[in-house]
Amino acid sequence: MTETDRPEPDVDVVVVGAGIAGLYLIYRLSRAGYRLRVFEAADDLGGTWYWNRYPGARVDVPSIDYMYSFDPDWQRDWQWSEKYARQPEILRYLNHVADKHDLRRHLTFSTRVRQAGWDDDASLWRVRTDRGDDVTARFVVMATGCLSVPKQTEIDGLERFTGEVYFTSRWPHDPVDFTGKRVAVIGTGSSGVQSIPIIAQEARQVVVFQRTPTFSIPAHNGQLSPERLAQFAANEADYRSAARMSPGGIPMERSITPTFSVTETEREQRYERAWEIGELFEAINVYADVMSNPAANHEFAEFFRNKIRAIVDDPQTATDLCPTDYPVATKRPCLDTNYYATYNLPHVRLVNIRKHPIRQVTETGIDTTDESFTFDAIVFATGFDAVTGAITEVDIRGRNGLALKDKWANGPQTYLGLTTAGFPNLFLITGPGSPSVLSNMAVSIEQHVDWVLDCLGHLCARGFAVIEPTETAETGWTQHVSDCADITLFPAANSWYMGANVPGKPRVFLPYCAGVDFYRASCDEVVAHDYLGFTLSGRGGTECNDGVVRRLQPDVEMVLNRMAAMNLPTMESMPVEDARAFYNQMSAVRPPGPDVGEIVDGTLPGTSGALAYRLYRPPTTPGPRPIIVYFHGGGWVVGDAISDDPLCRDLCVRSDAIVISADYRHAPEHRFPAAVDDAMAAVRWVADNAEALGGIPGLLAVCGWNAGGGLAAVVCRLARDMGGPNIIGQALLTPSTDGDMARASFTDNADGYGLTTALVRWLYDHYIDIADRRDPRFAPLRATDLSGLPPAIVVTAEFDPVRDDGDAYAIALEAAGVPTEHVRARGHTHKSVTMVDVAISGAPVRARIAKALRQFFAATRTPEPAS
Ligand code: FAD
Ligand code: NAP
Repeated sequence: MTETDRPEPDVDVVVVGAGIAGLYLIYRLSRAGYRLRVFEAADDLGGTWYWNRYPGARVDVPSIDYMYSFDPDWQRDWQWSEKYARQPEILRYLNHVADKHDLRRHLTFSTRVRQAGWDDDASLWRVRTDRGDDVTARFVVMATGCLSVPKQTEIDGLERFTGEVYFTSRWPHDPVDFTGKRVAVIGTGSSGVQSIPIIAQEARQVVVFQRTPTFSIPAHNGQLSPERLAQFAANEADYRSAARMSPGGIPMERSITPTFSVTETEREQRYERAWEIGELFEAINVYADVMSNPAANHEFAEFFRNKIRAIVDDPQTATDLCPTDYPVATKRPCLDTNYYATYNLPHVRLVNIRKHPIRQVTETGIDTTDESFTFDAIVFATGFDAVTGAITEVDIRGRNGLALKDKWANGPQTYLGLTTAGFPNLFLITGPGSPSVLSNMAVSIEQHVDWVLDCLGHLCARGFAVIEPTETAETGWTQHVSDCADITLFPAANSWYMGANVPGKPRVFLPYCAGVDFYRASCDEVVAHDYLGFTLSGRGGTECNDGVVRRLQPDVEMVLNRMAAMNLPTMESMPVEDARAFYNQMSAVRPPGPDVGEIVDGTLPGTSGALAYRLYRPPTTPGPRPIIVYFHGGGWVVGDAISDDPLCRDLCVRSDAIVISADYRHAPEHRFPAAVDDAMAAVRWVADNAEALGGIPGLLAVCGWNAGGGLAAVVCRLARDMGGPNIIGQALLTPSTDGDMARASFTDNADGYGLTTALVRWLYDHYIDIADRRDPRFAPLRATDLSGLPPAIVVTAEFDPVRDDGDAYAIALEAAGVPTEHVRARGHTHKSVTMVDVAISGAPVRARIAKALRQFFAATRTPEPAS
């Protein structure tokens, strides 16, 4: 079918849902002149705030932040009555906005979209509803909400119960009177925490059935804080813009202070302040590493637990209310008013159903395994099939009849959380892979809708009718979303963020957790690069600038961004002495790395005088350990025995071996092959003195990073050829193994990833003459025979000029019959894997290095039985 043959659709856009997202879509689409239909299952607008009318329902983000920003004169006709508005007020606000901007006329209520199918020939969607509508549209936008599909009850016998049954997520419109009644509440997430204190004010008896306790902080509701009001009043436009560029959608500086970099007293004061302020985002932001460092998180969690113990009178109830099996904030924390104190009331009781599981609902109440309760009413506050539930509930069929539900059977895949491959012209507002539920959703929704509108405008202006993400872009984004989660503690909890609350739902971290600011930057970058990762087609032909928008590990990218912002001079622009001072200065501000059992500084005889070494002994049981001789990085020019201190500590602890970081002479004072001679001398000395150093004679491996990785490789070959010492394994971390700068990695990664090609050239030139660069003592890759070398682990980094050197060396070792584990560190740079406690994504790579070293030692300790 040609473009001109194509049938005109009934409308340009079908929008599903009339919550905050649906309403803003109507505002933008109608003003831009699009023809639209908007279907809403409820009989009125408001979404979340239409459905969740339970007692105590209110926002957990200050109202002044949780509102639209598109209406600059809103203050003329609207005022928030308190810091955290209640549900009726929010619903009134949404109705007010709809009326003020005449949005209601586009809405079709009491109509559920059941099906949406893509007609590839006609390039349009056919949308069907439960009321018989059959509408064709060029685009479909799912504004169906992240928390709009209530979870099934999963508790036997509910149909037998003769009393009243309520779901917080489907609360009746008429007020429910609990006066004098015996009420059960099941569920202690945000909805339970908000409703329990209010229900307890009326009811004769309240029994709360708790499966997992929650972390909750007091909301201290009332007037908005004077600081925020002042900030807001000074300039609303700046305030809103700061919200858009913030981590969570509320103006706030991201904390960069690690927990344990300040004193215990200071930390206690900081936690106390967060408790007093009563704002969730503020609380999570107390220290930079609360969501990534288990020890930091544990301390913060303990602060919460102490608060609970201090409020709740009955010690057993207090213990049951203290969460202990997941890190704080890995499940959505709650904001409450008198939640914990409610358990001090004589008619309120907590039943820990992990200890006393619910057996069934009976005609008159609830039976646990060891008690029968009688109730007049049961309230279910049991949550939602979150993020994906409302999307997969609709039978959405993309190209070739592919069902979205099937495509997402093992977890959702999206590009930017906004689109999904195989489903052209389908947009998801706050879909999986967007910051959505981890952010102030009002800000995220506006950003999504704005992006969609810009995209439609672009298609129209360029004569394109269809847009669809590529598999490459989608796979890249899905990987990035998961990388972001993997450097946090989020995956450690059985949360609805992980899909863990719904039996059978795949365990995938659903939202994007790197922040609204980073997310927005990605969306903007995609547009700036001609819709990177999208295929656009139509009258104007087909265009695709395929690619992946985020390829670096998220924490590595943050470090690089921070370094770039500092605008530091390059080392190669400095005299060598200054470069060394600069290198040391940069090293001084790193986190120290883990504690080891003992550190001993000493000297050993080099080929031309004493060489410094630092010995790290593991903190485990006393007794001799295997030894790893480590050679530091620094391109033969900078660095010393202690310059890789955090890495050596980490290596020592993880491998449970003694690490001896041995210095070597540096260029330009001592050019090639001085460093090699010293490295060889160091290994010999350590082997000869293994026992005195606390080592196990014969259990000696070498390791090195960068130039040190090259030295470790060279030493292995020299030891083989010189008849000793016996080295049983080699761990080479982004090693320099060749002098050939014509390799692609030198051009692909010439700039921007820490080690630049210009710096490599500067280091080579200081160290070695061009004529010597094929000497295998500099370029072990050039050795004619690599057979018989010790087993190896070779780590290469994706964004590293010397990546191809290392790759080639790993391949050459394998080809020579050397057992070799080749780890390609995806999204890493030359240095990032060594950044202990800074680039958390490097930790699994270091764990693999340590594991390999342990295996080298174990294989030597336990010889293979004779066959
Ligand atoms: P929703 O408000 O969920 O609206 C989606 C609409 O789509 C619903 O009305 C639904 O009926 C309709 N729909 C779904 N499927 C179909 C279909 N197939 N056919 C027709 N219609 C359909 N976020 C915050 O940032 N701060 C808060 O303080 C906060 N508090 C919350 C409190 C509660 C009780 C809950 C449940 C959530 C809260 N959230 C909060 C998250 C909240 O969901 C979002 O902030 C926001 O309201 C979502 O708006 P939305 O328009 O995307 O989705
Ligand atoms: P939720 O956080 O998922 O909490 C559901 C609760 O029910 C949990 O305690 C859960 O225990 C329990 N539960 C679920 N199934 C159960 C079963 N079969 N038996 C016993 N207990 C069961 O749901 P929610 O409280 O409705 O909140 C969902 C999200 O909506 C919040 O996280 C928040 O984002 C938003 N919300 C915000 C506010 C606000 O303050 N503004 C208010 C309400 C909701 P487990 O933890 O063990 O699964």
